[in-house]
Amino acid sequence: MELPVLDEAPRPPVRPPADPSSYAHRELRDGEWWRRIPAFADVDRQTFLDHRWQAKHTITKASKLLDALEGLASPGFLSDAAEAFVRAPMAVRVSPYLLSLVDWDHPYEDPIRTQFIPTKSTRLPAPPQLTFDSLGEQSDAPVPGLTHRYPDKALFLALDTCPVYCRFCTRSYAVGPDQEMVEKVSLKASPKRWETIFEYIATRPELEDIVISGGDTWNLRAKQIELLGERLLAIPHVRRIRFASKGPAVMPQKVLTDDEWFRALVGVAEKGRKLRKDVMLHTHFNHPNEITAITAEAMGRLFEEGLHVRNQTVLQRGVNDDFATMLMLVRRCAFVNVHPYYVYQHDLVKGVEELRTTVHTAEVLEKQIRGATAGFNTPTFVVDAPGGGGKRGVHSYEVYDRTTGISVYTAPSVKPGQFFFYYDPIDQLPEAGQARWADPEEHEAMHDEALQAAMARSAPH
Ligand SMILES: *Cc1c(COP(=O)(O)O)cnc(C)c1O
Ligand code: SF4
Repeated sequence: MELPVLDEAPRPPVRPPADPSSYAHRELRDGEWWRRIPAFADVDRQTFLDHRWQAKHTITKASKLLDALEGLASPGFLSDAAEAFVRAPMAVRVSPYLLSLVDWDHPYEDPIRTQFIPTKSTRLPAPPQLTFDSLGEQSDAPVPGLTHRYPDKALFLALDTCPVYCRFCTRSYAVGPDQEMVEKVSLKASPKRWETIFEYIATRPELEDIVISGGDTWNLRAKQIELLGERLLAIPHVRRIRFASKGPAVMPQKVLTDDEWFRALVGVAEKGRKLRKDVMLHTHFNHPNEITAITAEAMGRLFEEGLHVRNQTVLQRGVNDDFATMLMLVRRCAFVNVHPYYVYQHDLVKGVEELRTTVHTAEVLEKQIRGATAGFNTPTFVVDAPGGGGKRGVHSYEVYDRTTGISVYTAPSVKPGQFFFYYDPIDQLPEAGQARWADPEEHEAMHDEALQAAMARSAPH
């Protein structure tokens, strides 16, 4: 037998050097970038880091926002935004931090502008399947402000305000002040209202996991955080608490300069640890541009105190629905000590149809992301099934017709025997699908087809 000559011996393949773009997530925005904004030209670092300054200069009126952008964004963009504000279901609330991160030379493409400032020209008709509170949170509420949908966990809506207001908010049925078009459910931060919630939780021994949301933990006072934390930790069967907040993405300064609040939050986590109970922060970064050197400092300070942070992203068209952006977001979150937890299919929300994507887009992204980084930093892509089915893996539908855009999910541990429908945005469907939706007589037929197919699929074998 002939031995191979040395030159031809099999060698392990040489891994080519990595493209530097694969670690570009470590380059965080730093310096005093906010000074480009005329209104912040004289703001020094110390002032910009002051959470009181951020809160005080947060813009809460459309007219004020438009004034601040005068000379910064083009007149065409400003009148487009002004017209959109008139009918928006969410109130305006934009922090100086967010305002400073937008590229005002290209506001239409900017992922942060897109999330907080509407424009009339990009508006699409509302989906015909839309209802307010599309997740049915109120119908699963045994007491006002507590949604008990899943067997062992519940959602505690502690308050109804946030440090900023997102256009795409699922809870626009409650969050924020009433708008011209919308009167909302009241869920104020009130210890008296909380009392009935504590009582309910105490009488449900199966509840181990409480999500405190709203609204937003950033807007709770230190004393309120302590009260919520202590009362919940004192209930023997409660094992895990999560405080939910958009804050790290829109006003990270609070972690660095509101010491009383910071101590209250890490104090609850410390008390929890002593009791061997888990207290975490859940946050909501949607785009890598939201994560700067200030964010890294803030998340690092929480991490040093042993407070772990998880991230939940909302998938949005033109914001984060491409692989490069999503990968950068996932890696940058991990880099600043935040675990990517979920990516949500955009809920059916009024006034933001142009931000929704198809289920197919989410499936493709999940496939691309998985394997690109550590498994524990790989988010699960979910759809929160309209009608109260809860979160379902986006690819776990019983059936999905990409022509009608209808996907049907089941939720055996949450609502056994029921079917839940999600609808792709109509403008993203193939022509044949768009034509069927254009004809109201077809709507029921499309539903029936989807339901029949799902029933056949999910019947016991
Ligand atoms: C999301 C959610 C929870 C928490 O669910 P996880 O999958 O554990 O993050 C609990 N209750 C409600 C109503 C929710 O929407
Ligand atoms: S921070 Fe959360 S609850 Fe508040 S407006 Fe945004 S999405 Fe809604």
